[in-house]
Amino acid sequence: METVEDVTRFRLVGGDLALDFVNTRSGPPVGTPDDDTLTSYPELVAWGVYAGALTEAEAAALRRLSRDDPGGAHAALARALRTRDYLDEIFRPLTAGRDPNTADLARLRDDEADALGHAQLEPGSTFAWAWRNDHTLARPLRPVVHAAVQLLTTGALDRIKGCGGCRFLFNDESKNRSRRWCSMDDCGTAEKIRRYVAVRRTRATR
Ligand SMILES: [Zn+2]
Repeated sequence: METVEDVTRFRLVGGDLALDFVNTRSGPPVGTPDDDTLTSYPELVAWGVYAGALTEAEAAALRRLSRDDPGGAHAALARALRTRDYLDEIFRPLTAGRDPNTADLARLRDDEADALGHAQLEPGSTFAWAWRNDHTLARPLRPVVHAAVQLLTTGALDRIKGCGGCRFLFNDESKNRSRRWCSMDDCGTAEKIRRYVAVRRTRATR
């Protein structure tokens, strides 16, 4: 039995489902990530619930499905991780004002076509895509892929930023676009402490 680590140990700070999915890996702003919440299919499902992309009932059905088809679950996790890689490759350049490469955008288009092929339009204040009837192991990925396309096509690209202290990406929804940190409690505070120590050090050497 695979153990499911606590997938809630990373805060949801992206302000967008696709960015939160990229943020399932943590680490320094550049270089290799040092922690990953997605190391098994059950963790992908648990993250989907945590991020609001899956209901508890959908998660339970997916866990049953993955127990009956371990090979399929393994392949679905591998696909999810490849998706996370190309989403990272799409959004990270945008934080530096650079265009993502066309091959990654083509993969996103193909996955969006696949996702919408498994969705239906449900009425509400506006109609929205829903995956209620999608009983495939790829179900957790569908809303993530769709959120990525939504952010690229209707979002403000200059609001997509990378944290100054770690590799997390976020959609800056602050009024004056001044957000610099994934969270003030983590990287923001670390930066404040660093500045404070630096100021004290200059005072001490005077
Ligand atoms: Zn950070």
